[in-house]
Amino acid sequence: MKRVLIAGGGFGGFYAARRLERLAPEDVRITLINDVNFMLYTPLLPGAAAGSLEPRHVVVPLRERLERTELRLGWVIGGDPANSKLEVELIAGHTIQFDYHQLVVALGSVSRTFPIPGLAAHAIGFKTIAEAIALRNRLVRFLETAEEIDEPERRRPYLNFVFVGAGYAGLEGVAELQDFALDALAYYPRCREVGTRWILVDAAPRIMPQIQPQLARFTEDVLRRRGIEIMLETQLTEVTDESVTLTSGETIPCRTVCWTAGVKASPVAERLGLPLEQGRIACDERMRVRGHHNVWAIGDVAAIPDPARPGEPCPPTAQHAIRQGKLIAGNVAAALGDPRRDVRPFAYKTRGMFADLGRHNAVANVLGGRLKGFPAWALCRFYHLAWVPGIRRKIRLIADWTVDFWFRRDTAELGQLGHPPGLEEHMPPSAETGDGLASARALIDRPGG
Ligand SMILES: Cc1cc2nc3c(=O)[nH]c(=O)nc-3n(C[C@H](O)[C@H](O)[C@H](O)COP(=O)(O)OP(=O)(O)OC[C@H]3O[C@@H](n4cnc5c(N)ncnc54)[C@H](O)[C@@H]3O)c2cc1C
Repeated sequence: MKRVLIAGGGFGGFYAARRLERLAPEDVRITLINDVNFMLYTPLLPGAAAGSLEPRHVVVPLRERLERTELRLGWVIGGDPANSKLEVELIAGHTIQFDYHQLVVALGSVSRTFPIPGLAAHAIGFKTIAEAIALRNRLVRFLETAEEIDEPERRRPYLNFVFVGAGYAGLEGVAELQDFALDALAYYPRCREVGTRWILVDAAPRIMPQIQPQLARFTEDVLRRRGIEIMLETQLTEVTDESVTLTSGETIPCRTVCWTAGVKASPVAERLGLPLEQGRIACDERMRVRGHHNVWAIGDVAAIPDPARPGEPCPPTAQHAIRQGKLIAGNVAAALGDPRRDVRPFAYKTRGMFADLGRHNAVANVLGGRLKGFPAWALCRFYHLAWVPGIRRKIRLIADWTVDFWFRRDTAELGQLGHPPGLEEHMPPSAETGDGLASARALIDRPGG
């Protein structure tokens, strides 16, 4: 039996598997390897971070949506393309060499960081559901902490938030979280006295290079009017657990730095024995990895020539990954010998983009036209509803958005979720040692807390 192996079950890998289920003959086995059993719908991540969407509603369980694909949970750790093998460490703990006739690599990207002192130790990314929820929990926990502090000046670092990177992740993240904080402040009178401060920093001279300058200016105005400070042509020089220093020389007391300044291809790409182009897997316009007849790559991990910008690779966006995933299914079917299919080049050009600014406001560049304010926000919601796979998920999103429209957001801090205490940790705190308190604090400080 021939096997098509898909490494990575995000936008690219999921859509490739779905389309292949229809196109590949019955005697072809489709295997998808992913490190988690869901696909994260990243454009909805800011909503999950701000508590307007239930975290489980912004992910798509792979087993629910895939019918004949065999899902294997594990981590791709290496490859031997000369012998058509991929090395995977399965979650059960053992390592397997998977054989394949055709391989599609769709392992996505990771946050790209720079050697800024203290950045890796103190900043948090905004690419995974764990990071989004940790960010929200940290915000609530810091409101609680600041509320306990008597001196207003000492409350400051807990109430200042710095986002780095003014692309859609940073922009939507800062807008949604500030919105949530303003809601939450109603319950924190001492924090209200000091107020929160929100700062968006970017090294570039403008925000959102992906949209037209006029829309970018409109977005900037909306955010500034809301009290978000935007510092352009500015970089970080140092991060500590209590402050951030900028190239302008300013030091901002701050305990939350969210890093969204760009992505780079998954580092696993370097271990697959495939040619690379600036860290991404080098592909031709048909998405075939250069020099390998049975290996393909798509999405953020792949450098596929961009039909819209000759000489440049496709930008790392979900729009591109989805279209590449769908197209590659046909190309793989053709490579498997389906006489009705050709191996076709990737020809998609971006038709538009949205940035949701929260509070019923958004900007959109659609089919060459510009839209802003409520119409853009409504269109943005419809667009995501159309793309999120599965009717049940769509209904859940509509329910979440409806509740969010009418009610204040929840301020419960559930950092302990997924980290239950050991039985011995249920013991009451001892008066002498304060052990109970220490274990409670340890729980809160765990990752994801
Ligand atoms: C907050 C945020 C908002 C965004 N908003 C938009 C937007 O509005 N519009 C847009 O077009 N794009 C948006 N993007 C970009 C978009 O998410 C990416 O371009 C898209 O996810 C790329 O798809 P992919 O299939 O290449 O990778 P992914 O969707 O990241 O999928 C990669 C998969 O591989 C898995 N994986 C990684 N390494 C391994 C391994 N070693 N072993 C096994 N599995 C592994 C991952 O868990 C993941 O499931 C946004 C990104 C972020 C972070």
